[in-house]
Amino acid sequence: MTGEISVSEQIEAVRRKYDDLIGKEEYNLKTYDHNERQRQKILNKLYKLQESERTEIKGLERRASSVGVPGMRKDGWEHCPRCGSNRVKQKGKIDHAFALWMSGFVFILLGLIIWPLIIIGVLLFLISPIGFLGAKMNVCRDCKKQWIANKA
Ligand SMILES: [Zn+2]
Repeated sequence: MTGEISVSEQIEAVRRKYDDLIGKEEYNLKTYDHNERQRQKILNKLYKLQESERTEIKGLERRASSVGVPGMRKDGWEHCPRCGSNRVKQKGKIDHAFALWMSGFVFILLGLIIWPLIIIGVLLFLISPIGFLGAKMNVCRDCKKQWIANKA
C-alpha cells in the first residue's frame, strides 16, 4: 500500500498511464486507414479510457480528502477533545467482549461461595459475544474521558 502523502503522486501516475494509453489510440487513429466501423470502435475506446481516468482520479481525491481531517486517523484515533492530550488509547470490540467474559469469570468464582451468582456468571459468558457489536471507543488516560471513535 502507498502512504497517504503520495496521493498526488498516485493521481499523477494515473494521468500518465492514461495519457499513454490514450496517446496510443490517437496515434493509431491518425496513422492508419480505418473504415468507419473501426474508427467508431477506437473513438469508443478513447471515450471509455477518459471516463475511467476520471473515475480513478475522483476515487483517489475522495480518499485524500477523507484522510485529511486534522488530528484524526483512519482508525478513528484522535486527540482528547476535552484536554487535548495525546495519551488516548482505543478500546475495540475484542476488549468489550473480553470485559464481559472476565466479569462472567469473576461471578462464577464468587458463585463458589454464593451459588446463585453462578447463574449471572454463566449468563455473562453467554452474552459476551455481544461485546463484538459495541462501538470502538477512545479513552483519554489523562482526564478519563471516553467517546466513540468516529472512523474517518
Ligand atoms: Zn483528556
